[in-house]
Amino acid sequence: MKSDIGCKKLKKPKSVNRTVIGYFCVLAFLMVFLVELGFLILVSETLENQARDKIYIIGKEFEANLQSGEDTAAIEESIARNRVEGINVYLFTEGGDLVAPDGYGDVNEVLTELTSRVGNEEVGYHTTYRSGNTVNYASKTEYAGKTHYLLVSYSVTIVRDTVLNLQLYLLIIGCGVFAAAVLVSFGFSKKLTSGMKTMSDTAVLLAEGNYDIKFTNADYKEMAQLSDALNYVRDEVKKSEDFQHEILANVTHDLKTPLTMIKAYASMIKEISGNNPEKREKHLQVIIDEADRLTGLVNDVLSVSKLQANMSELKLKVFNLTDLVYGIINKFGYLQEAQGYSFMLDIEPNIYTRADEEKISQVIYNLLGNAANYTGEDKTVYISLKTNMDGKRVRFSVKDTGKGISKDDLPEIWNRFYRVKENHNRPVKGTGLGLNIVKAILENHAFDFGVESEVNKGSLFWVDFPCVPAEIEI
Ligand code: ADP
Repeated sequence: MKSDIGCKKLKKPKSVNRTVIGYFCVLAFLMVFLVELGFLILVSETLENQARDKIYIIGKEFEANLQSGEDTAAIEESIARNRVEGINVYLFTEGGDLVAPDGYGDVNEVLTELTSRVGNEEVGYHTTYRSGNTVNYASKTEYAGKTHYLLVSYSVTIVRDTVLNLQLYLLIIGCGVFAAAVLVSFGFSKKLTSGMKTMSDTAVLLAEGNYDIKFTNADYKEMAQLSDALNYVRDEVKKSEDFQHEILANVTHDLKTPLTMIKAYASMIKEISGNNPEKREKHLQVIIDEADRLTGLVNDVLSVSKLQANMSELKLKVFNLTDLVYGIINKFGYLQEAQGYSFMLDIEPNIYTRADEEKISQVIYNLLGNAANYTGEDKTVYISLKTNMDGKRVRFSVKDTGKGISKDDLPEIWNRFYRVKENHNRPVKGTGLGLNIVKAILENHAFDFGVESEVNKGSLFWVDFPCVPAEIEI
């Protein structure tokens, strides 16, 4: 029945069992057919050639005996001997009289054939030929001082019969081979598809949310590869599910603290500090800070999920990296003015790079923010932007003098929600998402980046940007 759904007509999938059996049968049939054909041609050719050779040798022997003047009785005897083996020998005078043997076969027919073959030839001429079901040797020879015709004839019907018998045997063997091919292919395809069936059953369990399953099929290399791929899919799906739980738990937890604070301070303003401008100011500031923290958290979560879903495509353009770095440092100006931070700068002027400006500013902002958050008591942050020797790359680095990060924690800090325990002096406002966002953005750009850190000395985060001339605008 024709489907009226407006989608592409799907090809009906073929059954592996049937396809394998089909191919095996065709292959078996072709092989049996070709072997039989080749064998038959070879055997019938060989048998016929052997018959020809035999006839030739007997003919030549007869001729020699005739020429050596053997008497008729001896010739008759030799003819009779050959006749037992199915070889007929005829000897005619030039006038057409049969010399030997007496009375078998259609003599006139034989004579007509003989004269047409060798009648016009010189004495001593001989030929071998095939006529109907016989192979023949005919010659014009000298006997008893007169010219004679000699014909030695051998019926190849026996060869035909042999070939027919062989054909029959081969046909029986062929049927056997064919039946064996059907059985073998059936067994093989059953084994193959039973593995597939197990896999598809396991995949159904996975789809139902059972992550304890394991795809195991190591019978065939390709199936083992498929199993590995499906196990990988299972792990990834599980990771993604775990991430969803983790994000929910972390976000809920991170939302709870500022919300509690906001509620508590708002109540305090209402009940206690409302009329005290100084206290009210202080409490309002806590509410503003906590609201900022909430905004930061929401923005980070949004960035992570966007990057994760690969929704945000890179908008690459050439821009002044020096200006961008200065612009971000200025945003941290309040730290220098109000909290006594010092930013030590070593920044080359007019460095241009090609990247997604907005995302790179997010990277630099996060790295600077972390350095300010985690630096030591001297509240110093070192920022540098310097081209390398060949001028093809420029390295941006941020160094702090904080407690550093231990070797065990170093690889982990790029993971979502990872926070090193107690490595900072001041209460940290982080979400544990910042470095994960940095990593995702830089990996999207295929830029090199890294961190070097020593416990109790500080950390240095770096990113290598490509250097491009200012004029290039693509
Ligand atoms: P957060 O928002 O908590 O700072 P990040 O993803 O930016 O999250 O950082 C992850 C963790 O890596 C931080 O919680 C902190 O423990 C550690 N970290 C990041 N930068 C530094 C740094 N400059 N010095 C020491 N530890 C750092």
